[in-house]
Amino acid sequence: MTVAARGAVAAAVGAPLTYQDIEIDEPGAGEILVRIVATGVCHTDEITRHGDLPMPFPAVLGHEGAGIVDAVGEGVTTPAVGDRVVLGWPWCGQCRNCLAGEHRYCLRMGEAVAGGARLLGPAAGRSAYHFPDGAQLYGHFFGQSSFATHSLVLASSAVVVPEDVPLDIAGPLACGISTGAGAVLNTARPEPGASLVIYGVGAVGLSAVMAAVNTPATTIIAVDRHVDRLHLARELGATHTVDAGTEDDVPEAVRRICGGPADHALECTGVIAVVEQAVASVGMLGTCILVGGAPAGATFAVDHVSTLWGKRIVGTLGGGGRSDTLMPALLDLYGQGRFPYDRLIGYFDAEDVERAIAASKRGEVVKPVVRRDGGGRTPAGADEPEAGVVGLA
Ligand SMILES: [Zn+2]
Ligand SMILES: [Zn+2]
Repeated sequence: MTVAARGAVAAAVGAPLTYQDIEIDEPGAGEILVRIVATGVCHTDEITRHGDLPMPFPAVLGHEGAGIVDAVGEGVTTPAVGDRVVLGWPWCGQCRNCLAGEHRYCLRMGEAVAGGARLLGPAAGRSAYHFPDGAQLYGHFFGQSSFATHSLVLASSAVVVPEDVPLDIAGPLACGISTGAGAVLNTARPEPGASLVIYGVGAVGLSAVMAAVNTPATTIIAVDRHVDRLHLARELGATHTVDAGTEDDVPEAVRRICGGPADHALECTGVIAVVEQAVASVGMLGTCILVGGAPAGATFAVDHVSTLWGKRIVGTLGGGGRSDTLMPALLDLYGQGRFPYDRLIGYFDAEDVERAIAASKRGEVVKPVVRRDGGGRTPAGADEPEAGVVGLA
């Protein structure tokens, strides 16, 4: 049996996303079918469409989905039909890193996020997605392919969203927002009085700023070349800003602010020249955390001697840790007004993914979210935020 759905299909590398009728197999053992209410749009969707991840095509992308459980497969006890969920990253549950609780570093992460097929179960290695004529379609992108009316996902990757949290803000927790916040809370873990510099304050970097406000770090520096983003970073809790568009020597500007090297640098741009600045911003026992994705095959150079002095350069994926602890904590902080990431979100209609990507590229919106059915707010339409482009004043 299959489920009739609609999804944004990229026919080939570089092709536009076009909404069309698709079919998805019913959930098997350990799987759930989720009716997608809203999904964030992430830079990774765009670079995958252009071939930077080895995703097979034609494919349905999207990986920041939130929705309502429509059906559950054999053996699934949680979540239940009717539960509101956000779709975290998939993980195999069987490898050394999964068994150690490091779900983000599942040894099968590559195939789990971009293999285009089911990761587990008797149908592992085969896609549950088809065109109505039976032709092959690839899905399961980050275990969800959320640019669609429905997603088939592993029950283990879904996290239940509390009733008082609108579904149309939950989706971005799956990737972008958790990536920035987790890099601070799971990886940097700043000590009292620590300094932290964040290179690139888009959705990921601004999430890092908001997370840092919830730590004992006392110096939080935002670096960007877009002045409006620096203003927003200040509003969200950055104590200092550096305009990379006018500052000749950014690491030196960081040292002036900190009275020496920073304790932690977070690199959220993926631009190699900026990676090297971030590494140069920290000194003895400092930690440079690589968050942003550079193009496939990119390499960087660092000064050898200064790196010997106890400097650590650490990569992170999706903020590290595990979805089922990080996402509920961030939702609690949001509810308490301590992590106001809804300020980054701009809304678009469900099938306007291309418009959302374009607005994001032009810098008009920090975190685009496409949604249907009023974003799942109850009663429908009540206190619904303004549609269109928000986030930047
Ligand atoms: Zn694993
Ligand atoms: Zn993402």
